[in-house]
Amino acid sequence: MNKADEDKLPTILENNIARRESAVIDDEAAVLSRENLASAREDAAQMREGVADLREDAAHLRGTAAQVREGEAHVREGAVTSREQGIRAVESEQATSDDQVLMLREANSNLVIATMEAHRLTEQVESAKVELDHLAHHDALTSLPNRMLMQDRLSQAIEVARRQRRQLAVMFMDLDGFKHINDSLGHGVGDQLLQSVAQRLVDCVRHSDTVSRQGGDEFLLLLPYIEHADDAALSAQKMLTALAAPHLIDRIDIHISASIGISIFPDNGQDAQTLIKCADTAMYYAKQNGRNNFKFFEQDMNTRAVQRQSIESSLRQALELQEFVLHYQPKVDLQSGTIVGAEALIRWQHPQRGLLSPVEFVPIAEDSGLIRPIGRWVLREACRQVRTWLQAGLPPITVAVNTSALELRAEDFLENLRAILEETQIEPHYLELELTESVLMRNAESTGSLLQAIADLGVKLAIDDFGTGYSSLSYLSRFPIDTLKIDQSFVNRMNGNPDDANIVSAVISMGKSLGQRVIAEGVETPEQHASLVALHCDEGQGYYFGRPVPAEALATLLQAGLSLSIPH
Ligand code: C2E
Ligand code: MG
Ligand code: MG
Repeated sequence: MNKADEDKLPTILENNIARRESAVIDDEAAVLSRENLASAREDAAQMREGVADLREDAAHLRGTAAQVREGEAHVREGAVTSREQGIRAVESEQATSDDQVLMLREANSNLVIATMEAHRLTEQVESAKVELDHLAHHDALTSLPNRMLMQDRLSQAIEVARRQRRQLAVMFMDLDGFKHINDSLGHGVGDQLLQSVAQRLVDCVRHSDTVSRQGGDEFLLLLPYIEHADDAALSAQKMLTALAAPHLIDRIDIHISASIGISIFPDNGQDAQTLIKCADTAMYYAKQNGRNNFKFFEQDMNTRAVQRQSIESSLRQALELQEFVLHYQPKVDLQSGTIVGAEALIRWQHPQRGLLSPVEFVPIAEDSGLIRPIGRWVLREACRQVRTWLQAGLPPITVAVNTSALELRAEDFLENLRAILEETQIEPHYLELELTESVLMRNAESTGSLLQAIADLGVKLAIDDFGTGYSSLSYLSRFPIDTLKIDQSFVNRMNGNPDDANIVSAVISMGKSLGQRVIAEGVETPEQHASLVALHCDEGQGYYFGRPVPAEALATLLQAGLSLSIPH
């Protein structure tokens, strides 16, 4: 109730009372009882009291309202304060969060940059990892899988083949004469040749096959799916054919061949290591078999490989222990039957295995480089023997010493030869060096001057096993060669095969026209002897005239009359 209403309140009540009093008077007038009149007066007195109470209440209410108004104002004030405080708090909060937002924004952008940087670094690390991984598993020169990756793939392929009960093939390939190309044409050409070989190998195998480079000029191939060993043979032949076409490098056509060894899972081995070893062993036999061919592994190759290993280790001490000995095989003048010379042939008196033929250890000595000290010993021993025979008053003969290409390439070969001639005091023409055709083919320039220097000393030169190599006529006329030794394979077949007879005849004519002596090796029968005499061959050597014998036995032959009694 507002103040105006409160003030009107007593007036309204008084008006009501007045209306009641007039109604009572009207009633008195209408002759109401005196009691009703008295009670009406009483009511009116009570009403007047009630009005006084109401006035009091209204005053009280008025006070209360003022208090409430005051309280309200106070509350209003308080609210304002707290709202302001609130606003201020919010405002300050706002300021703080604005700073934070800025900082956040800054942090955020830093974070973005850092993330991008991290991403870039991760990418770099990833690509470096990929590169490293590639480097670790591939050969840098050819990009082919390397030894490690091959080992992995082979092991996996073996597991698959084992589960599926299938065969797989491992091929070990080694280039023939690569070292010579590298030495004579330079490493740059050698490297390009290896790349060209790698490409051809990749081109001629199946997608599922793996071609890897083991190092140097060695390649290892995995054919994980073969039906039969013949499949591997076909692949090997395909590779040899692919490699045979000339490789054009630095505008030079380079010819190269390879030797391949093949091993088969499960026949030759159950694990990668064994299969690789077997293929390697078989490759070695392919090399021995004249190169440019392939060989499957056979069990007895292993036995031979073990023997080879033991030979190599004991070969090192054989010189010190004086286990080598020279045997001499007579060379006979075919017209007179006179012994005109002898070939010194080395043997090894092995403490456990008896007298070993050079076929069993000379190739090993050549591979290990031991042929050089051994060769020097042979040369000195042969020259010493010549002087002993001469001092014993025996008729002089020329002694031939086999000289392998490796010995000849030693820088001190000539110097050593001179020193031995000096030391043993023999006339140089009593010494002849037997060289193989391959020596002439290698680096013709330097070989030519070395051979000339040897000839200038007075030492004779012979070409051994003539006809099996590739020497051309121009080489033969260019080098100071005294003697051609026709290879025993032609002599052996000359009486049964007209082609071989023709070759023997051609070599004899050629030698004569070049002013060289011609000697037939491996004469075993009177027929061969007769044919050679008829062809005017100069000399002969072979079991028919005499086997290689110890020095004393040859001395006896020489003493016996200089002439071998040739059975007719
Ligand atoms: P080579 O120089 O061609 O020697 C001839 C080989 O044929 C010798 O074998 C000889 O015993 C054998 N032979 C001789 N006449 C006959 C015959 O009528 N029939 C048959 N079937 N064979 C005959 P050997 O002594 O076993 O020597 C084998 C090879 O070992 C030699 O072949 C030679 O290349 C090499 N060699 C021998 N001694 C030396 C050496 O001191 N140094 C080097 N580097 N190699 C040597
Ligand atoms: Mg010989
Ligand atoms: Mg020979």
